[in-house]
Amino acid sequence: MYDVIIIGAGPSGLTCALYCHRAGKKVLIIEKGMVGGQVALTTNIENFPSIKKIDGVNLAIQMYEQVQSLGIEFKFEEVFSCSLKEKIKTVVTNVSSYESKTVYICTGASSRQLNAEGEKKFISKGVSYCATCDGALYKNKDVAIVGGGNTALEDCLYLSNIVNKVYLIHRRDVFRGDDILVKRIHECAKKGKVECIMSSEVVKINGDDKVKEIEVKNKIENKIKKIPVSALFVAVGRKPDTEIFEDLNLSNSGYILTDNKMKTNIEGVFAGGDVRDTILRQIITACADGAIASVSINEYLSK
Ligand code: NAP
Repeated sequence: MYDVIIIGAGPSGLTCALYCHRAGKKVLIIEKGMVGGQVALTTNIENFPSIKKIDGVNLAIQMYEQVQSLGIEFKFEEVFSCSLKEKIKTVVTNVSSYESKTVYICTGASSRQLNAEGEKKFISKGVSYCATCDGALYKNKDVAIVGGGNTALEDCLYLSNIVNKVYLIHRRDVFRGDDILVKRIHECAKKGKVECIMSSEVVKINGDDKVKEIEVKNKIENKIKKIPVSALFVAVGRKPDTEIFEDLNLSNSGYILTDNKMKTNIEGVFAGGDVRDTILRQIITACADGAIASVSINEYLSK
């Protein structure tokens, strides 16, 4: 019987484990893939206080080693189902089943992929799913971004302050994002910093060891244009990893609703990090969620 089972070994889960362990709790972390979550997929991190620059894999390894050195138990297994409503929670994996008094869900969210030819090959070599993480690497270069929602529009504006030119590619002839952002995009386009390529999709990404060019198909004219770029940012939405959890209250976009203490609608079940309905999804906010959750978990356990 564990005091807390943490599902997901990203920054949020690792921080929660660290804090719960320091409070004398018996902790199990279950992770289906690699430690670090999205962090491990990020090329360079330059916005984590106290570390000037680090690649994502190394930061993930450092976080993992810190927690592992304390003797906290890890299982590298995939959670298939959970029974959360009872006082004693049961978590079933592909290997075994585990019982705990509380559960912290920090399974993260995955960026949707375009499924364009070459996309997988160039991940971290010019294809990025995070403009705020990787934009600074392309100072004074030409880049492209795909998407028409608020994320793509905001990322495009952010990139336009760093790079030489941004090609904003959207599959329809109108943007989904807010009017105010669309207006700003058009202002940037007038200055030549942004070029909007509408009713178009990226069909292929070319390069050698890194991205050199994209092939963009206009869906109306059915013509393909080759555009030289150093990076392709994909901002076509994110999908929170919540499929295995039943009975949790979710937002319209599928993120887990919590209060500001990371409590979900189920007693003894907490959620944080990218899977939570929140305004900012960064390493530092994921860590903060994990720390706050640990306080709530300890409060709950001492009742
Ligand atoms: P989103 O609103 O779901 O937009 C995704 C965009 O990607 C849409 O324009 C969609 O095209 C396009 N898309 C989806 N699949 C595609 C594919 N396979 N190929 C090409 N394009 C594809 O996602 P988001 O922009 O990440 O925003 C998520 C939520 O967060 C939204 O509710 C958004 O308002 C919110 N958000 C708010 C702010 C803010 O208020 N400051 C900032 C960021 C995000 P279609 O339009 O044709 O469907």
